[in-house]
Amino acid sequence: MTRILRLFAALWLGLAGLATAQETGLSALARLEPARSAVTTSGEVTEVALGLTQAVPFRAFLLDAPPRLVVDFREVDFSAGRAEALADKGLIGPVRWGRFRPGWSRLVADLSAPAKIDTAVEETGEAPRVVLRLSPVAAGEFAARAGAPSSALWDLPQPAPTEPPHRRQDGSAPLKVVLDPGHGGIDPGAEADNLKEAVLTLTFARALKEAMTRAGMQVIMTREEDVFVPLETRITVARAAGADLFLSLHADALSEGDATGSTVYLLDDKASDEASQKLAERHDRADLLAGVDLDGHDDAVAGVLMDLARTETQPRALRASQVIAGAIKSAHLRMHKHPVQTADFSVLKSPDIPSLLIELGFLSSEADRQRLLDPAWQAQMAQAITRGVATWAQADAAEARLLRQ
Ligand SMILES: [Zn+2]
Repeated sequence: MTRILRLFAALWLGLAGLATAQETGLSALARLEPARSAVTTSGEVTEVALGLTQAVPFRAFLLDAPPRLVVDFREVDFSAGRAEALADKGLIGPVRWGRFRPGWSRLVADLSAPAKIDTAVEETGEAPRVVLRLSPVAAGEFAARAGAPSSALWDLPQPAPTEPPHRRQDGSAPLKVVLDPGHGGIDPGAEADNLKEAVLTLTFARALKEAMTRAGMQVIMTREEDVFVPLETRITVARAAGADLFLSLHADALSEGDATGSTVYLLDDKASDEASQKLAERHDRADLLAGVDLDGHDDAVAGVLMDLARTETQPRALRASQVIAGAIKSAHLRMHKHPVQTADFSVLKSPDIPSLLIELGFLSSEADRQRLLDPAWQAQMAQAITRGVATWAQADAAEARLLRQ
């Protein structure tokens, strides 16, 4: 409890100190529109509506001692409004808001009584709004619901205060690519013929890093040796690096069907087929088996965040998948019969970094094993992916410059 209080005090001081920078900063993605923001009551229900100039990822949760509602946003400029205008109505007591950490803003409202969040939705379209509905609960029930959900998307190592928020790449700097060799250490991944997926992906990642570096890209790896790296940490590495693109590299085994050839995977909660879904589940299970605590990752509100992230980043990731698959195909390297597929891969859930998972081949296929072990194939594949990434990055940068005008 003391620790939570101290954390909160630190946050509070941080908000006070950073308010000026935040509220005059040009980096905000969205601005609060006071005329469309209100706290209203209907029976026992209190509704908090926040009008925004554009939709941004957000999450809402409750904290205890004292009871508070916390809403985190990526990033909102609150300077047009007054927090007092929303305060002291229904279940909502005093309200404050401001920057939480670079790129993230926070609203904190004291609750006049223990409450639960019935719904937390964001309306997109012409007039984006975040709408939260709260209703009262017994004190015992509140305590059970309170507490900040932990997630790689939010609980990041604090970047240096001078670091500017990450911007979409526009070609003005070398493309930053994070390569993520799948599995490692206690989690060997797929195994066949004395081969370990974890070793193959690392070997290939090194070849790909070399090819990309020669092409002028800046490459960061989530692991450089055969060690275990939790899925969340892989995302954190990409975020800390300010990656423009995240590529997770795998060579799984598939007992289902006779999978062969390379496949590029995009994030989607609906998998292309059962085999893809099993692949994603197996990757998550690997973390559990390795002893990673996944508590608090299934909170309903995270879904809202993911949906929005997808709106922003998914079209870019989709184009990257198509261009990279095309480059592999035109290098006459063996592709899976469905070269671009979808699955719910946790490692692809960075909200603002286009992220793909490439199954280089399948360890369960004899032909694929031969290819994966062949240094000449590795070099051709590395070249093809590098060409695809370069082609995508050029078009992506052109679009970023266009959007800015
Ligand atoms: Zn794998």
